[in-house]
Formats: sequence, structure tokens, C-alpha cells
Amino acid sequence: MSAVPLKNTDAAHDGVRGITVLGATGSIGDSTMDLLRAAPEKYRVEALTGNANVAGLAKLAKEFNARFVAVADPARLGELRAALAGTDIAYGAGESAVIEAASRPADWVMAAISGAAGLKPALAAVDRGATVALANKECLVCAGDFFMSRAVASGACILPADSEHNALFQALASGNRHELTRVIITASGGPFRTWSAADIEQATLAQALKHPNWSMGQKITIDSASMMNKGLEVIEASYLFALSPDEIDVLVHPQSIVHGMVEFADHSVVAQLGAPDMRIPIAHCLGWPDRIVGRAARLDLAKIGQLTFEAPDFERFPGLRLAYDALRAGNGATTVYNAANEIAVAAFIAQKIRFGAIARLVEDTLNGWIRAGNLAPLSSADDAIAVDHNARKMAATLLPQIAAKAS
Ligand code: NDP
Repeated sequence: MSAVPLKNTDAAHDGVRGITVLGATGSIGDSTMDLLRAAPEKYRVEALTGNANVAGLAKLAKEFNARFVAVADPARLGELRAALAGTDIAYGAGESAVIEAASRPADWVMAAISGAAGLKPALAAVDRGATVALANKECLVCAGDFFMSRAVASGACILPADSEHNALFQALASGNRHELTRVIITASGGPFRTWSAADIEQATLAQALKHPNWSMGQKITIDSASMMNKGLEVIEASYLFALSPDEIDVLVHPQSIVHGMVEFADHSVVAQLGAPDMRIPIAHCLGWPDRIVGRAARLDLAKIGQLTFEAPDFERFPGLRLAYDALRAGNGATTVYNAANEIAVAAFIAQKIRFGAIARLVEDTLNGWIRAGNLAPLSSADDAIAVDHNARKMAATLLPQIAAKAS
């Protein structure tokens, strides 16, 4: 039994649907609001959440006449109250208010809070059996088994919003799950695709932030340059679709037009293509099981001309190899992989370590964690959050020696 529906159902949407956007002020939130804005007669906004951007959140709440808004930072309650003065929009602040937003009766919830803070709110939506479009990676990377089993238990429907997983979701609909032989997720290869290992080692922050195709936040752009982001996506795919690491391949595809492919038993390969614009996978989730009118540019393959593919290089991009290692180790190792990477990326941004040291810190933390006998199944959100917390502490402890070591 899967919480991700592998076939389209006949049920079409009629009437106005209640929508909640967790992380409404972020990049995914912005793309989601853009789609809602295009068809206001179809949607009623139940709740919106943000963290620090109170002005942006209040503006959206007024524009969409949201019933409830929550800001995660409790210190911003007064600011939110002032920004909503004169409206009848209910509001709250702090983690409990964000969870309340997720718990309110919306038919469809976008889970797009960044980081581990997104886990408990997404679980609140899952536990009431909602349809959840999942953008937040940490729900799966930090607590995948547990998250998906809670979705099965409540009858929640998980719609993959990340572009590669949404592509797999779309391609999977053309066969049956038992006929699948492998999935392939594509990677642009990032700005260092053609660089030597020695040059990657010394890459600067400005160089790491130059993504060739996608416009995204700083952390995910650096993860694309190190291919840690692809590692996180391999882990996500494993939990979402119950795939073993051997059933997931990565293919470097610099044009970012083919987002994912599924190979079936007859060796047919079904791919999903589209412009690199998150509004395409989000529109698919928003419309599902119907299709809605898109807002992203249509694909002009004649103009693009060439689509090319190459195998990933696990030597120059060890972060990708480590994701497979963590997935095979299981029992919280993927949580450790993610936590150590977050510490490493923050240290790289603060210019405390070289680019090449990001993967070394992740590898040393994973090895240290396993050697210490810390691997154990995660059975609650608090378990996952505790592993995340302790792995960050271990990575921070290892950081000075990694920083001191030359490659
Ligand atoms: P952003 O940083 O742009 O937005 C994050 C959102 O979460 C904002 O609304 C932010 O509020 C809110 N937020 C931040 N911290 C907290 C907190 N502690 N508690 C509650 N809310 C918080 O991120 P993205 O939109 O880029 O990404 C969201 C998620 O989707 C991530 O997990 C990312 O990996 C994933 N994703 C993103 C893709 C992309 O193209 N951007 C593609 C695929 C997946 P505020 O604005 O007030 O700070």
C-alpha cells in the first residue's frame, strides 16, 4: 500500500477547494500562490504560514482573504497583529500556530517550509488524511519510513512536488508498480560539471552559486553544485516510491528538460519533460488528478535543439556516493547525511571550509556516527529531530579538523 497514488483516479474536482500553503513566503510558496492567483474561482485559501517575513505573509493573506495565518517566529506576533489590523483574518505565532495552520480543514496542503522545521507541520496535515503536495525534502530524508507509514495509516495522499519526483510520479502512471525495473532522476550537473577535482576543491562561493538552469535559494544551489542535492533526491525517491538504492539511477542532463524517467519490465522508458520551472510540477499536484492550465513557458524542443546525457562521476562528486551509502545503512543515517551537509554548507558559506571539504565533513560524520553505534530505527518525529540535532553537534565537533586539513 502506498501513500503516493500510482494511478490517476476518475475523481475530478468540482466546487471550490480549500488550500493551505505552509511556507507561503518562500520560493515554492511564491510559485504556488502564482497558480492560485490565476484561478481564484477554484480555490479558497484556508491558511498561510511564514517565518520572519511578516509583511510578505500579511500581504498574501489580505490578497487571498486567508482564514488563518501563522508566523513561526514567536517574537513576531505583535508585528503580525499590526499588519493584519482591520481584517477578520485569524492569526497566531510560534511552532504550535504553524501546526494549527496545517491542522485546519483544507483539502490540499503545500508543504514548503524549508528544513527540519517543516516536519511536524507536514505530519499534522498527513495525520488528518489531507492531500499533501510535498516539496520539503527533510520530511523524507530525515524521517522517510516513519513519514510514509503515517501517511498510509491516516489515508493521506502524498503528491511529490519536487520536479524529479513529480516526473517519476507522472511516468509511473503509465505502468504498474510491479512492472517497474528502475527509475532515473536527472541532474543538471551544476556549475562544476566539467571541472577537475582539483578545481572543484578550491571553488569559491560565487562560483558555487552560479546554477546553469534553475533559480533557487542559496542552500539548494550549493547542494546542486556539490550534487548533494541529487543525493537528497535519491533518498527522497527511495522513501516516496519504496525503491531500493539499486533501483534508482542518476543521469547527468545539462539542459534540465527531462526531469525523470521510469523503466518498465518491457524496457520501455517513460520520461516527463518540461521547462525548468517549479510551477509545472506544482500545477500537476494542484490539479491532480486533473490537469490545470499551466503558467510556465511551453517547451520548444526545436529551439533547444539538443538534449544530452552523461553518467555521474562519483569520484569528483562524492556527496552523491555518500547518499547511496546512507540509504543502504538506513536507521537514521540519511538524517545524519542531511544534518552534516547543512553544517558543512553553512561553514562553506561562512568561508570556514573549502568547497571540497563539504563532502569530507559529511563522510566523517556518517562514519563517526556508525562507529559510535548510533544507528537505530526512527519511530517518531522527535526521534528524527533528536538524530538531526545530535548529528549536527557531531559535525560541528569534526569541523575544525576538516577545516585544518588540506585536501
Ligand atoms: P525558501 O527558503 O524560499 O522558503 C522557505 C519557507 O519556509 C518560507 O516561507 C519561510 O518563511 C519558511 N520558514 C523558514 N524557516 C521556517 C521555520 N523555522 N518554521 C516555519 N517556517 C519557516 O525555500 P524554498 O521555497 O526554496 O524551499 C522549500 C522546500 O522545498 C525546501 O525543503 C526545499 O529543499 C524544497 N524544494 C525547493 C525547490 C526550489 O526550487 N526552490 C525545488 C524542490 C524542493 P520566511 O519567508 O518568512 O522566512
